[in-house]
Amino acid sequence: MKTEFSLAQLADPDIREADKILRACVHCGFCTATCPTYVLLGDELDSPRGRIYLIKDMLENDRKPTQEVVKHIDRCLSCLACMTTCPSGVNYMHLVDQARVKVEEDYARPLPERFLRGVLAFVLPRPGLFRISMIAARIARPFAALLPAPSGATAPSFFDRLRAMLALAPGHLPAPGPSGGTIFPAEGKKRGRVALLQGCAQQVLSPGINQAAIRMLTRHGIEVVLVADEQCCGSLTHHMGHDTDALKRARANIEVWTKESDSNGLDAILVTTSGCGTTIKDYGYMLREDGAYAAKAARISALAKDVTEYLAGLDIAWPQSKSALVVAYHSACSLQHGQKITQLPKELLSKSGFVVKDVPESHLCCGSAGTYNILQPGIAKRLRERKIANIASTKPDIISAGNIGCMVQIGSVESTDGTSVPVVHTIELLDWATGGPRPDLLTTSMKGPRVGSA
Ligand code: SF4
Ligand code: SF4
Repeated sequence: MKTEFSLAQLADPDIREADKILRACVHCGFCTATCPTYVLLGDELDSPRGRIYLIKDMLENDRKPTQEVVKHIDRCLSCLACMTTCPSGVNYMHLVDQARVKVEEDYARPLPERFLRGVLAFVLPRPGLFRISMIAARIARPFAALLPAPSGATAPSFFDRLRAMLALAPGHLPAPGPSGGTIFPAEGKKRGRVALLQGCAQQVLSPGINQAAIRMLTRHGIEVVLVADEQCCGSLTHHMGHDTDALKRARANIEVWTKESDSNGLDAILVTTSGCGTTIKDYGYMLREDGAYAAKAARISALAKDVTEYLAGLDIAWPQSKSALVVAYHSACSLQHGQKITQLPKELLSKSGFVVKDVPESHLCCGSAGTYNILQPGIAKRLRERKIANIASTKPDIISAGNIGCMVQIGSVESTDGTSVPVVHTIELLDWATGGPRPDLLTTSMKGPRVGSA
């Protein structure tokens, strides 16, 4: 694509990067076929190619974002299916991230929306506050019926978003897991040492996920540390265009992980929430212009691994006995498109003895996408219904996923239309099959690969 940035504009490193990305696009439109919003809405401006044109026009002319541009950028899930499909290697992620920052800086959203976004950006990265807000949402949920009727699928009102937020609150919250600073020694001969990202929403909604990872890792000779003073990875605010907050969190994490690695050694920083993993792997890019952090950020990004990537390199005693349980593997966008991890989780589940099924249209997002299911509830609901129907066609006993956002979006949550099939994290199934307890959501009648196991 031909671009016409001035020399003065190109002096800005972000514009130079945008220029490089835009020039790689050859307008072929292959990406439109796998873009969830284009598939649903059929509007070129809700396709990757259409958004690329809008962003190009906005940046090239140094124009403030218009309401129309913001509408189409906001509808983008940042699912990155377009990056998987694009034959020219267009880095849409870095382009739309830049556009989101410009929107937040230069566009005055209506007050109720600004308020809601501000609350989400403040509460979600803080587990203590998030826990309180989930309890409050559960109490307030019966009053959702009093809110004005839904306003339509693609132009959500404040009340639509409020209703969506209340609907996502779980019926109960598990007790918190271990806190930062805890070290879990390896069982038997020590073969490695890793940090495990504690996460923010996940540690409130499902602390059992990281506990399964800790059990599985320590059982296989890996010492696990929950690094003290670690923060939210910044993914949530990064995707809302709040880059000052996201970069502050990234720098803080880089400091504590670097200190831990230098003092006690780390083979990897493991992540069980693929949305966070994609962002941490991008720290090197996000801080590339920061002289004080660029090298440290690149080192941390290189250390970051999805938990399945790390397990694939371990010598694991897989169970001899198979299970008849059918597991539908839901491939989170951040894992398949963001990190290009597609087969590994399925291979590990198969080695664990489960019958693993691919989900039709697995490239299409479930509609979770960070705060998307709150901010764009109409589109998110349609994507969820489509995902659940596709999963149901595999007739699974269990749904496995590697990202808490997808698990909440797809799962059975009170007062929503989630599936009744239990949704568990891939690591919980791997842990169960190799000696851990049965995941809480599974019934005692479900026989895992370890015959007669807990
Ligand atoms: S990130 Fe997803 S929703 Fe956004 S343009 Fe690409 S495919 Fe479409
Ligand atoms: S597939 Fe890639 S090159 Fe083709 S229009 Fe989409 S982004 Fe541009």
